[in-house]
Amino acid sequence: MAYAYEACGEPILSVRNLEVSLKTSVGELKATRGISFDICPGETFAIVGESGCGKSISSMALMGLLPRIATARADRCVFDGQEILNLSRRKLSNIRGNTLSMIFQDPMTSLNPVYTIGDQLTEVFLRHGKGNRKQARERAVFLLERVGIKNAAERLGAYPHQLSGGLRQRVVIAMAMMCRPKLIIADEPTTALDVTVQMRTLALLAELQREFGLAIILITHDLGVVASLSDRVAVMYAGQIVETAPTRQLFADPTHPYTQGLIQCIPSYEPPNPDAELHTIPGMVPSLIGKQRGCAFRNRCSLAVDACGEGDEIALRELGEGHAYRCLQPHDALVANWRLLQGESA
Ligand code: SF4
Repeated sequence: MAYAYEACGEPILSVRNLEVSLKTSVGELKATRGISFDICPGETFAIVGESGCGKSISSMALMGLLPRIATARADRCVFDGQEILNLSRRKLSNIRGNTLSMIFQDPMTSLNPVYTIGDQLTEVFLRHGKGNRKQARERAVFLLERVGIKNAAERLGAYPHQLSGGLRQRVVIAMAMMCRPKLIIADEPTTALDVTVQMRTLALLAELQREFGLAIILITHDLGVVASLSDRVAVMYAGQIVETAPTRQLFADPTHPYTQGLIQCIPSYEPPNPDAELHTIPGMVPSLIGKQRGCAFRNRCSLAVDACGEGDEIALRELGEGHAYRCLQPHDALVANWRLLQGESA
């Protein structure tokens, strides 16, 4: 199967049929349905989709950070040889911030405003028994320098509000690296930053990954970010992976109509037609409350036929080399649709 990535060898994270449900006053909301993927050591795996498609809640389930109203179950959720879903709080805290770290969207909410940067960086190192205070401080200074913060030793005494947004996000990245993690989940790591700072932060993440051999799950709604940083990508829609492929393959042969729509929506900085309008995907993500039937994208899909609304769900179809899509239409018809869309936007 495409999600059991053969080039991987032994995956650092292997997830099969992850289901996250939330109890709401109007019924059970199925936030994710049957999510499966493998993460190879040292690779960047992007999860992309619009708000509410289930990207962030999947990562929260992996980190054991779901709200009380949510429950998660899976056939398998193995990180670094250990089943991690629904682990006890104590066992999870041994992993979280240690071999498995997370970078959140907004650095201000990741950092405690009443503690110095130094206290927060060293605390995670000491809590996981990685060394003494002197070693913790040395590691903090090393990492602050490595993420490009000048006068690192002096900065340890600064409070979060004394740093710019870009510097705060660099501190958060340094904090995620304190215990030499094997996998970092970066949830929209640049969304709260200015555009110029975004590019520098992404370049920094890529550099650190190469240098320290990290695996990264990059959660984003931005396909431009996916193109520049990831090795493989999963496109999510309405709680399901609707297409997965190596990143180059996805951009060369976008197959699911939703993926095609997303790629068409990437703004061009050199438009062949300066009067061309920005593209959108008309319609909205459907309600995820109650039992879902057929393809969740059918109300927005120009290729939908009656059969798209029948049955429990559409199965993933394999195209080979790690590429699979969840649609009833044959590949040829979807390629023809993509050519048509490209012709329209030329
Ligand atoms: S299954 Fe039908 S509605 Fe869903 S993406 Fe394919 S053609 Fe469109």
